[in-house]
Amino acid sequence: MSSRRDFIATSFQSVGLATVGSLLWAGYGDLTKKSPLVLRPPGALNEKDFLSACIKCDLCSIACKNRDTNIDLKTGLSKEPTIKVAKAGGNTLIGTPYFTPRDIPCYMCEDIPCAKACPSGALDMKTLLDKNNKANINNSSMGLAVIHKESCIAFWGIQCDACYRVCPLMDDALTLEYKRNKRTGKHSYLLPVVNSNSCTGCGLCEQACISEKSAIVVLPDKISKGRAGDHYVKGWDEKDQQRVKNSKGLTTKTKHTKENITNYLNESSF
Ligand code: SF4
Ligand code: SF4
Ligand code: SF4
Repeated sequence: MSSRRDFIATSFQSVGLATVGSLLWAGYGDLTKKSPLVLRPPGALNEKDFLSACIKCDLCSIACKNRDTNIDLKTGLSKEPTIKVAKAGGNTLIGTPYFTPRDIPCYMCEDIPCAKACPSGALDMKTLLDKNNKANINNSSMGLAVIHKESCIAFWGIQCDACYRVCPLMDDALTLEYKRNKRTGKHSYLLPVVNSNSCTGCGLCEQACISEKSAIVVLPDKISKGRAGDHYVKGWDEKDQQRVKNSKGLTTKTKHTKENITNYLNESSF
């Protein structure tokens, strides 16, 4: 018997029916905490705020199903939407929207109908605005594509650029880097590299990957992105220096410039 069934059975034996409802809900809540790998639609707030704001109305999923680009030309009907609504028994909080790129990625609709349809702000159009205050799907951050080099055949020296070609932000979010193949001595590797500043996490690359199990997968930012820590400061980056100035807890004794950073590196003994 699964642990979830165990949980339900035990609950029924020990408490009244009314309490069971709330316990079940709390149980599902716990499940989400244990399943941090879920990918949310464009504009989603951070997971904690998203879960508080989402009213589980399905409107984002319906908008995704009815998006202009989703019509099957043969039947004239809408195809399966990218956004699915979590059902009981899975690892995602029941009723909340999510997507699985290997099955159906996000097609990055320019008008972002899913986020527009959200009545609660759980998908927040404001997070998608560009400098001119215009919503731009390229600003979405659903996750980050991560490459498993050992199973990506481009890293074996075999030519494959399926993920690169399908990326809507080709040469920005996903680039190809040349590297000499020392093993053969006369060939080059053409290696896919993801730029975390531009990748939206749409998952088109994950779906397109020719590997039996995708060698490029989208993971939520919280899982895929590291953090150097506030005490590391890029002396050559004015924005980062400004960050230290604005921070109450951080101070630096030396004002770094491009020149003294270069001198420091050149003069040091390592
Ligand atoms: S932007 Fe992505 S998730 Fe939103 S409607 Fe389009 S395909 Fe669906
Ligand atoms: S439209 Fe908004 S509130 Fe409704 S299910 Fe989607 S995210 Fe949740
Ligand atoms: S998830 Fe893949 S296809 Fe989408 S922007 Fe990132 S690298 Fe490109």
